[in-house]
Order: sequence, then C-alpha cells, then structure tokens
Amino acid sequence: MALEFHPLILRGQTIPHALQARRNRRQISLSVDERGLVIHVPTRVRPALIQTAIDQHAQWIVDQYQRQRTPPRLWCDGERIMFCGKPLTLIADATLTQALKLNDPADTLHFHSDLNGAALARIIHQWLQQQALTTFATHCHQHCQQLQLNPCPVQLSNARTRWGSCHRKGHIRINWRLIQAPHPWMRYVTAHEVAHLRHMNHSSAFWQTVATLDPDYQQHRLALHRQARDYLWL
Ligand SMILES: [Zn+2]
Repeated sequence: MALEFHPLILRGQTIPHALQARRNRRQISLSVDERGLVIHVPTRVRPALIQTAIDQHAQWIVDQYQRQRTPPRLWCDGERIMFCGKPLTLIADATLTQALKLNDPADTLHFHSDLNGAALARIIHQWLQQQALTTFATHCHQHCQQLQLNPCPVQLSNARTRWGSCHRKGHIRINWRLIQAPHPWMRYVTAHEVAHLRHMNHSSAFWQTVATLDPDYQQHRLALHRQARDYLWL
C-alpha cells in the first residue's frame, strides 16, 4: 500500500511524514528519503512514543531531508570544495603532469582533465584524507607536547555523525571530513580528543584541559556545531 504523507513542522521546516505500521515490528525506527520521513512502528504504538522518537532525532531528520533534496555534487571543472575553511575551485588542466595540484594563493585545485566524475571524486577524497592526516597529526602532536604527554597515534575516521573519538588505549581518530573546516575548529576537535587522554569523561577538569589547549574552545565548538554539518556529507 502506498504511504500517505502529511506535513510535519520540524525546526521551522516542513517535512512530509508517513507512518508505516507492521505487526511483527517491536521498535520505532525512522528513515528519510526524497519523499520525506517514514516512521516505522509496531501496529499498536502509543502516539507519545512516536513524538519522542521524532523529538529525539529532530536535527537528524532535518539534515537527512535537506541532504536528500540538495543536488549531488558534480565532480567537474568549476565545482568548489571546502579546504581548511576556504573554498577551492576545481580547474581541469590538460597540461598537468600529476593527477592533482593545489594552487594555494589562487585557491584553485587543478586536476588532470582526463579525470572526471567518480574517478575525480576518489582522487580528491584521497588527497583530502592525506592532508587531513598530516594536519591532525601535527595538531595532536603539539597538544600532547603542551600537556607533556607521549605523542599519540592518530588515525582518520569516516564517520557521518561525529568529528573525533579517543580510545582508552590512547589512540585518537579524527573524521577526515573535518579538513574542510577552518583551522581553529580543527584545533578544537584535536584538543578535545587529546584532552581525553588525561580525562576519559567530560568533567570540568576535562574542559579545563581543553581550555589550556584552545582558550577559545567554546566559540570554536559552537561554530562547528552550527555550521559544519554540511561538511559531513562530502
Ligand atoms: Zn569528548
């Protein structure tokens, strides 16, 4: 049976939503596609539980829906990507002897004109990941030095939901997509994870340690939270 979609206002946005009930379902789950939000529910479900599920995932729903409606990135000449907080324009260049070349003062990233579409996307992702690893490792190394800790191994993560994590055994993973953000925001994330090497919690002692590494961390944290969501979709 076709689903019936009705408008739902969420964070000021109108998002079509529909309920899909199944008898053998035990829990509520949400999915978002180009039609809108589909709420998968058991046949007998209390409306309050549906509301709670929507409230708890409101931002996620809005983000997913926006994502569905933004046209996919065209990997071609003239397209722009973000790198360290600056837009870089992609320029096709038949004379290039390598696949990619960053022209830093001009804010352009030249690619060999034989590349396009998925192949170009892959090469640019790889390049961003290399830049990300070098940058984050340098930041983490500096933070560790400042806290007089041994340098920690740094790896990249590919998460869609978080910027960084720190494991009990002392290795740090930072989302490579963060390389799109301005340096101060990246420094906040690396400072946060390195501070976890001292405090495996978010206590006030932890935040004091973050503040010694990044005195303006509150501002950077807020900016990242507010503006960086798009970065997760590269
Ligand atoms: Zn944390």
